[in-house]
Formats: sequence, structure tokens, C-alpha cells
Amino acid sequence: MVETLFRYLDDSATLLQKELDCSYLEALVETGDNAFQNEVQQNGVSEVTKKRLEKIYEEMNRLSYTREDIRKAFQLACLKGMREKLHPNRQMTPDTIGILFSFFLEKLLNGPFSIFDPAIGTGNLLTTILNRLPNDSVKAFGADADDLLIKLAYVNANLQEHPIQLYNQDSLKPLFVDPVDVVVCDLPAGYYTDDEQAKEYELRAREGHSYAPFLFIEQSIRYTKPGGYLLFVIPNSLFEMEDSMRLHEFLKKTAYIQAVIQLPLSMFKNKNLAKSLFFLQKKKEGIRPPRQVLLANLPSFDEKNAMERIFSDMERWFSENKQ
Ligand code: SAM
Repeated sequence: MVETLFRYLDDSATLLQKELDCSYLEALVETGDNAFQNEVQQNGVSEVTKKRLEKIYEEMNRLSYTREDIRKAFQLACLKGMREKLHPNRQMTPDTIGILFSFFLEKLLNGPFSIFDPAIGTGNLLTTILNRLPNDSVKAFGADADDLLIKLAYVNANLQEHPIQLYNQDSLKPLFVDPVDVVVCDLPAGYYTDDEQAKEYELRAREGHSYAPFLFIEQSIRYTKPGGYLLFVIPNSLFEMEDSMRLHEFLKKTAYIQAVIQLPLSMFKNKNLAKSLFFLQKKKEGIRPPRQVLLANLPSFDEKNAMERIFSDMERWFSENKQ
């Protein structure tokens, strides 16, 4: 089903790309809108192309898909578009990370909750999580500074019928989101160039541009309710930076570290760009730190036995540490 749906999305995006003389990703946004509304909405599309597009959407809407079918097909189309023009800050978060995040959230939360991704990109991470959580009473929010990515997140969410509230903005500026129960974020890499805005942060650099992951962690804690959880994808170098001691001090005051899980090096072409998962709980009166921080190195995802062992270690950690 994923393949079939990808073909429809791809055929439509390819036709619209030629017709509108735009990038594949821009054409994919138009495709998503058309498919959702079930009509060709663009002016200036020739009659012949319009007929072909209408046929694609008609066939597409005749079939039924799960949300995961839609997410995966849309992800394939996004990856195709991203290969057209490589962009270092436009990488989608791989499914395995969303799966691990939802494993944690399922253990930690019961009942309705709110979740926010301040660097939502295409929405792949957030919707991977939403699709795996058992209840529909989740209020979801996302923000991103990149106007093309946020449009992709918008059509992605619409096609999967997730009512995510989206904001196209710099997430290091004040946000229109009330503090949430959970923040998830695949932290953007690099340095934040708005030095004036960085002055609002304790973790700003003393000189020059500030390190964006530090500011994102501080901002995320600000927008999390006391006792809420924060699940990040961090660069492994986060704790080896010149200013990392200040991050440690900041975290000691504001949150409890729950887990640091290194992702398999085989996931990364360049070992220097390898990443880890980093889970925190914002401090709240009456909440204790975990007896032990969960530290793990994930094996390669195709080592089935080793993966099972890690999941059972995580289960054990939860039963010993859940409050
Ligand atoms: N989780 C996303 C997904 O699955 O598609 C990918 C996130 S990507 C690693 C990092 C994102 O951070 C990019 O979408 C980029 O546009 C966004 N970003 C970088 N700086 C930002 C800022 N100051 N405010 C908001 N978003 C920002």
C-alpha cells in the first residue's frame, strides 16, 4: 500500500513540478493540498495535466490507507525531494527514533497529554510518535523556521488527519504555545546567528554566536510543565563543547536526566556527526530523580537479539525507576 500511495504522490508531484516550474518539494506540498481537498487547486495548469491529476487523486481516494501507510509514503516522497537539493538542516528524523520515543512515552504517560516539537521539520518524528500512541486525546503542537518544511508538515498532518497546531517561526523567540507535558525534538545543529535574541538565554555564548542545541534545550525546558518530559536527539558532541559545563550546571537546577542512549554508529555516514537520545524530566516539587540514569549503547538495528536485550534492559529500568 505504501508503494502504491508513493507512486500517486510522486506522479502528481512530478507533473506539478514541470507545470509550475518549481522544486519537487514545493510540488509535493501542492500535491498534498490537492489530494486532501480532492481537486486541482492551482491556476495555470494545462487542461491535459489537470485531467491526469484529477485521475490520480480519484484513484488515490478510492483506496483506504492507515496513517502509517500515509506517513511512510509521504516520507519516501520527501526523501526523494531532499535528494534533489541537499540541505544540511533539512534532514528528516528516522523512524527508529520516533519508535523509541513512543516506547518511552507509553511507559511514562497515561491519559491525555500535550506534546510539542519546536523543530518539527516535515512532521515525520511527531507523526511517527502520534501514530504509535494508543489514545487520540493528545494535543499536538509544532513549530519550524523553514517555511517549506512547515508546509510539508501541514500537508503531512492533514493527510494523516492529525490536528497539529503549527507555527512558522523561529522557535528561539517567544512562542504562542502554553507549557506542555512533553517536548520532543531532533535538535537543529550549528550556531544561532541572532545574538540579540540569544541574550534571553542563560546558555548563550559568552562570545560570538551561541550553540543552537543549548538554546533549544533551555527553551524547551521553559515550555514544559513542571514534572513534564523532554525527549531530544542530540549530537554526541553536546557534552564535549567548551561550554558543556554550563549546560550541566543549568540542567542540575532545572531537570533530572533520565536516560542517555547512544544511537548505533552504523546509522551515520560520518561518525563525527553521530547522535544520541537524551531524556529529561523537568523538576517539580515532590518528584525525585531516577535511582539510576539509563545509559545504553544501541546496537545496529538489524542485530535482532541485541535489540531485544536493550528493550528488556529498558523495561527493567522502567520498573525500577518509574514514580
Ligand atoms: N524532526 C524533523 C522531521 O522529522 O522532519 C526534522 C528536524 S531537523 C533535524 C531540524 C529542524 O530544525 C529543521 O526543520 C530546521 O528548519 C529547524 N530549525 C532550525 N533552527 C530553527 C529555529 N531557530 N527555529 C525553528 N526551527 C528551526
